[in-house]
Amino acid sequence: MGHTSTSRVQSYIGDPVSDAPAVDRDMLEEVFQDIQADIRYDHELNGCLNCGICTATCPAAHYYDFSPREIVQLLWTENLEGIYDAMQEKIWACAQCYTCAARCPFGNSPGGLIMLMREAAIKHGMQSAKDVLRPFSRVMLKLISTGNQLAPDMINPDHFADWGPNISKIDAPLKLLRKAVPVPTMHTTETAWQVNLKTSVELYTIWEMTGVLDQLETIDENLFDVICDIMDEKREDWDDWMDEQEDEDE
Ligand code: SF4
Ligand code: SF4
Repeated sequence: MGHTSTSRVQSYIGDPVSDAPAVDRDMLEEVFQDIQADIRYDHELNGCLNCGICTATCPAAHYYDFSPREIVQLLWTENLEGIYDAMQEKIWACAQCYTCAARCPFGNSPGGLIMLMREAAIKHGMQSAKDVLRPFSRVMLKLISTGNQLAPDMINPDHFADWGPNISKIDAPLKLLRKAVPVPTMHTTETAWQVNLKTSVELYTIWEMTGVLDQLETIDENLFDVICDIMDEKREDWDDWMDEQEDEDE
């Protein structure tokens, strides 16, 4: 009697009741390898008792359908499909407070592992990363153009609609109040404090060399183009200033 040859290895893995397209196994492996290859991975995952102490102490687990224990178990058991699935939503619930890392009896850092998964989600241009990071585009723009992440003029109902009625509590005459601050560089609402041109230009180099700008290009190409224009202008200003100094020295 002949036997038919079958394989238990699935070339496509997906949720049979989901409308989402199945994810190719090569992609699942590639994403996991990116997470696992990070130098921090072995330091932050040493095993897992499945004890749930991390989840019991996690503030995000109290409010969302999210469990650091579950995420660590997915990584520890190398559940590629589950890892990919968690990257579509769950990993973005973490507040990065690292309470879990302080409590885990195995010395794991669930929050740190989630950070690696987030970086991989950005690298692969996942829609979840684009959706979560979109509201931060104004913060990135402010940071690049002024060296400040936040400025007083950004704290208003238009920018923080998600704060709900509580926004009225900070809807104060900020321009006037800032004039009362004794430090002159803070007499503006356009920046939190002044960052000099040299520091800004040095920051651009750091962002370029550490891959931050590559990540931004993957997530938001339009914002990347705007930011590149701003960086070019600031670098030209810096070169002009340097030329002026040389002319004065001659
Ligand atoms: S990560 Fe640590 S605290 Fe969380 S379930 Fe595993 S062993 Fe327990
Ligand atoms: S770092 Fe994230 S997973 Fe860990 S306790 Fe804080 S919110 Fe929870």
